[in-house]
Amino acid sequence: MKTINDINFKNKKALIRVDFNVPLDADFNVTDNTRIVAAKPTIDKILNDGGSVVLMSHLGRPKGKDEKFSLKHIIPELEKVLGRKVKFVPDCIGEAVQNAVGQLKPGEILLLENLRFYPEEKKGDSSFAKALADLGVDYYINDAFGTAHRAHASTAVIAQFFDKEHKAAGKLLEKEVTAIQKALDKGEHPVTAIIGGAKVSSKIGVIENLLNKVDNLIIVGGMAYTFLKALGNKIGDSIVEDDKLDLAKKILKEAKEKGVNVILPVDLVIADRFSNDAQTKVVKANEIPDGWQGLDIGPDTRKLIDGVIQNSKTIIWNGPAGVFEFDKFAKGTENIGLSIGKASEKGAYSLVGGGDSVAAVKKLGLTGKISYISTGGGALLEMLEGKTLPGIAALTE
Ligand code: AMP
Repeated sequence: MKTINDINFKNKKALIRVDFNVPLDADFNVTDNTRIVAAKPTIDKILNDGGSVVLMSHLGRPKGKDEKFSLKHIIPELEKVLGRKVKFVPDCIGEAVQNAVGQLKPGEILLLENLRFYPEEKKGDSSFAKALADLGVDYYINDAFGTAHRAHASTAVIAQFFDKEHKAAGKLLEKEVTAIQKALDKGEHPVTAIIGGAKVSSKIGVIENLLNKVDNLIIVGGMAYTFLKALGNKIGDSIVEDDKLDLAKKILKEAKEKGVNVILPVDLVIADRFSNDAQTKVVKANEIPDGWQGLDIGPDTRKLIDGVIQNSKTIIWNGPAGVFEFDKFAKGTENIGLSIGKASEKGAYSLVGGGDSVAAVKKLGLTGKISYISTGGGALLEMLEGKTLPGIAALTE
């Protein structure tokens, strides 16, 4: 994969697909600038080479043009993070944009309006992609890892209008891919994956691919109850996907054949209702009474998982161990974060991704200890499934 490190941008204009889909409060202030900070190294490299930068992104899910979703709201935060002035044009294709790009001087930055004001963006419409490619730039750079699994006009389709010498991955995209490959394909053994979250159905592909890569597979969160039930445990009113019981059995059988050690919860924190004010108890994993539901892993499971993590050289984590949004059921998720932080300090390579796991790591102040925190949700899951992302494939075709 060609990256921007292979290019000198002196007197060149680069159109960069960034992921500035940031959360805004009611007054349109950016409440989390992680994605803007993550794009800075790519922007800096091009400007420092003596080039100029045109930034394009989506923001939210607008239905057509809608001021609420205008990217102009992020300009103050963008200027603060970059320490530079940012020009803005209230469209992303057409003559006015071409003129603004034409006037751009080395060292200058132009931000385009929300790509999703055009439904053609998500449809991957090739005339819209061509209109973006025709803005008058020399290079197309993709640095939007978070949307690299989408074959949208600006993330993939546009790349066909640039030859191999004039398109490349930005530094964030490169870092993400390298980090995931390092954990998944080149990881030092033992390799341990911890997969949590609400449902098995959303992570089947991930689990199946991981069975070919890892030594230990720890299954926690809501999805664990489908596995527990498949093994004949009493799971009371816990979340379960009854149509996935056979699949859970098949996965467990396959794991055995492949010599993968699957770790399921041995005890649980159960609740008499889905609430932070619920009555709670700790029970063995096969003893959940009717009327009760498991909302977090128990103390023995936390200890068991910590032991496995401390003996691992490579650790991949995606998905919470319980309903961590409620303080009462956040301990399992937090303990996994702390365990991974501790193992990383001892030299293990750790990769954490997905909104909930990343939020837990940030809340615990572990950001500096984890080897790599992915900015991708869906894109990371597809990489963990072993898929080639359209946004990445398009750069090499
Ligand atoms: P996902 O988006 O698939 O990673 O799932 C994350 C969600 O799973 C979070 O909102 C958690 O609250 C939820 N979750 C985790 N454990 C449980 C559980 N035992 N019962 C119900 N929901 C859960």
